[in-house]
Amino acid sequence: MKYVYFFSKDQSDGDAKMKELLGGKGANLAEMASLGLPVPPGFTCTTEACDKYYKLGKTKLFASLKPEIDAALKRLEKATGKTFGVGPNPLLLSVRSGAAVSMPGMMDTVLNLGLTPATIKALIESSGNERFVMDSYRRFIQMFGNVVMGVDHHAFEHELEAVKKAKRAKLDTDLSVAGLVEVIERYKAVYKKATGKAFPTSPMEQLYAGIDAVFRSWNTPRAEKYRQLNDIRGLLGTAVNVQTMVFGNSGENSATGVAFTRDPSTGDNKYFYGEYLVNAQGEDVVAGIRTPQEITLKGSRAWAKSQGVSEGERKANFPSLEEVMPKAFKQLDAIRVKLEKRYKDMQDLEFTIENGSLYILQTRNGKRTAQAAVRIATDLAKEKLISEKQAVLRVDPASLDQLLHPVFVKASEDKAQQIAVGLPASPGAATGQVVFTAEDAEAWAAKGRRVILCRTETSPEDIGGMDAANGILTSRGGMTSHAAVVARGMGRCCVAGVGDVNINYKTKRFTCSGVTIKEGDWISLNGSKGFVYKGQIDTVDPSLTGPFGTIMKLADKYRKLGVRTNADTPHDAAVAVKFGAEGIGLCRTEHMFFEGSRIVSFRRLILVAETVKRLREAHGIVDLAALQKACGKDAKAVEAIKQYRQALRELLPLQRKDFAGIFKALKGRPCTVRLLDPPLHEFLPQDAAGQKEMAETMGVKPIEIKRLVEALHEFNPMLGHRGCRLGITYPEVTEMQTRAICEAAVAVKGSKPEIMIPLVGHVKELANQKAIVERTIADVEQKKGVKLNVLIGTMIEVPRAAVTADEIAKEAEFFSFGTNDLTQMGCGFSRDDAGKFLGDYVEMGVYEYDPFQVLDQDGVGKLLSMACELGRKARPDIKLGICGEHGGEPKSVAFCHKVGLDYVSCSPYRVPIARLSAAQAAIRG
Ligand code: PEP
Ligand code: MG
Repeated sequence: MKYVYFFSKDQSDGDAKMKELLGGKGANLAEMASLGLPVPPGFTCTTEACDKYYKLGKTKLFASLKPEIDAALKRLEKATGKTFGVGPNPLLLSVRSGAAVSMPGMMDTVLNLGLTPATIKALIESSGNERFVMDSYRRFIQMFGNVVMGVDHHAFEHELEAVKKAKRAKLDTDLSVAGLVEVIERYKAVYKKATGKAFPTSPMEQLYAGIDAVFRSWNTPRAEKYRQLNDIRGLLGTAVNVQTMVFGNSGENSATGVAFTRDPSTGDNKYFYGEYLVNAQGEDVVAGIRTPQEITLKGSRAWAKSQGVSEGERKANFPSLEEVMPKAFKQLDAIRVKLEKRYKDMQDLEFTIENGSLYILQTRNGKRTAQAAVRIATDLAKEKLISEKQAVLRVDPASLDQLLHPVFVKASEDKAQQIAVGLPASPGAATGQVVFTAEDAEAWAAKGRRVILCRTETSPEDIGGMDAANGILTSRGGMTSHAAVVARGMGRCCVAGVGDVNINYKTKRFTCSGVTIKEGDWISLNGSKGFVYKGQIDTVDPSLTGPFGTIMKLADKYRKLGVRTNADTPHDAAVAVKFGAEGIGLCRTEHMFFEGSRIVSFRRLILVAETVKRLREAHGIVDLAALQKACGKDAKAVEAIKQYRQALRELLPLQRKDFAGIFKALKGRPCTVRLLDPPLHEFLPQDAAGQKEMAETMGVKPIEIKRLVEALHEFNPMLGHRGCRLGITYPEVTEMQTRAICEAAVAVKGSKPEIMIPLVGHVKELANQKAIVERTIADVEQKKGVKLNVLIGTMIEVPRAAVTADEIAKEAEFFSFGTNDLTQMGCGFSRDDAGKFLGDYVEMGVYEYDPFQVLDQDGVGKLLSMACELGRKARPDIKLGICGEHGGEPKSVAFCHKVGLDYVSCSPYRVPIARLSAAQAAIRG
């Protein structure tokens, strides 16, 4: 097995296609070197080596790796004319991680490796720049100490700050050689104290320790958490890139920077977007220690304007790379075009300028916000760099969620008290209560509070808190700082580098523009503009036009699946139609019984329902009027039947109004209405106070209500008296609902109602309910003198229904898969209680995903496809849909496409996600 792949100008062993083996970074370095771009040469230890590191252990792996590394080092020495570990021209190396899927900042990097007393001396002689060598050495000790040996980086920072203070140096770059030498001595002491060993002076020992650290970093908790949050699975491990060092910290004619070929926040392609620092190394830009400057003059001016910096001050203190190093800038700009053409996507690149010469250290497809993803995909298609289908595949459906959520109401934002301006690091609007630690953010969010996480700067350990927060504010760092990059990836609103904000972690407060904000106070962030406000601000729905509209149009062009929505109010129906829903796939009617006076009517019905049932059984009469007559002088019985009939009479017009409102909002689109589903006890008050109130309203004693609640108690209500079982016991409810639906359809022209019977397990259950529905439809048709075209179908949510779907299809014109219940009964997991252990199951890999979120394709999915097949056999034109939560989940939507459903139905905000997922499934085939 070959573990090591070499790359240098015109002689790379690998290429861009080998991401799985060489990691994204390694594959792209090989590709760029082959393209003749200025890439410092090096070699990549493969992801297979990482896999073996964990399987065979470090000693065995390193034994087989060593001959290959020795050979690669020889090649590298030849390519660079330098030697590793000795003068006169010593070769220094960077050791960096790089998995097949990029995980920015999650794994480890060691720079300046190979510095020893001997090479330091030689390097000072060859470079004639002692300051640069000492600066590199102090960086090396700190990075090696922290990354490889686990020494707390604060211990080093503390010493650096102490020396800076003593020497009155404001920035790191203000330190002289003597100052740096002092820092180095202090660093060495910190290292020795923490590790019990002197800092290593053998270059080979340094190199292998560095490689070891990178392999180890694959399995740190933060890397695992990142993979979990981003659903990154099935990778072998990280590759290790060992590359010749080039030095952005070798003086004023050197620099380092990060650039995006298009704006990663908005997707704009107005100018080359990026930041740099003179006389610095890569980590300075990302760590946000110094505020970096813009690459282009245009960008620099835009930045100055947004920050209230005058042109004179900008030019003197924050000039662009275009102004400072025009030659290197021009070269970089040309490379930007070349890379986009080659990779056909927005690139995120790292570069270093060493004494005026430009080097590219990395390129990868840049992380971006959903807004940018949509914009870039549609622009690239317009520019003919990619096809329409590729554009559709470029956008992660789940990320669309970020575009559908509210933005600030302009008038409310205009009125708000702005307290600071920072960098617009990740767009969107966020309002929340201030917290200062990632742990607090997680804890507060878990209690349902909206929080804004405020940090001086963030680090990879903060990732859980960043995910839990509504928004993130940092007082330091630029557009490529950790906070900015991670927030954009998560779609979390972020304002970074708010210099005016002074955070005090001890007192849990920050001050800014004379205002003090304490933990728990409300602030608001406009991540698109970089504004920070005191207090809460109102929000509105976003616009769905522009690139978003374009990508949705393309999705509609390619998808085969229909997309409907689950909605039970006119408002939700209207929102869903705005998002592109083609109808309602599930209108749950139970919520309609809770509002205002109707709950009183429905409770009255429940109160006497049991009595009516008993009377019916005793007399053997179903018809209510006949039953009432048969009860003769039994006043109590007659009163119960009367109340029952009165409640139904009261409910009918209310339901009719509900349906009419929804049909109107749908403007002729179909609407599947599900008849009453939940067990009756859900409509009754469970607490004593509520029961007392109900008793007063009903004019009975509280004990009667208590008894009623007890009588309706079920040990397993999800498997109890619910769904069509209710309609079978109380046929008048089915009749009343059907009548309301039909009369509303007559009243609202063009309505397309479909009636759905829930929780059917046996075809006879369906036949029973269908007969009532058909009879009622005929009655309405006759009374109104119209012909209604109402489809009658059922939910498939009981496993027995799925396996006897051929029988059921004889009675059903459509099936709608209720995969919530089908999962509950198919897997045997209670919908209400499985949360207690399903998390562990997923962690242990028993189930790959929570089956209530992502359809369990091997199990529940099999039931579903079997039912489709059987259903179609019995009724070839049967209409098939899904209305469980899975209908808006991308992987499940792809499955629905595969089994050939006619449509998926999901909550309004997931409609665009389902449209795009359906298109991607169709394109992938
Ligand atoms: C289902 O079971 O999937 C369904 C949509 O119905 P409910 O969630 O209302 O039980
Ligand atoms: Mg259900």
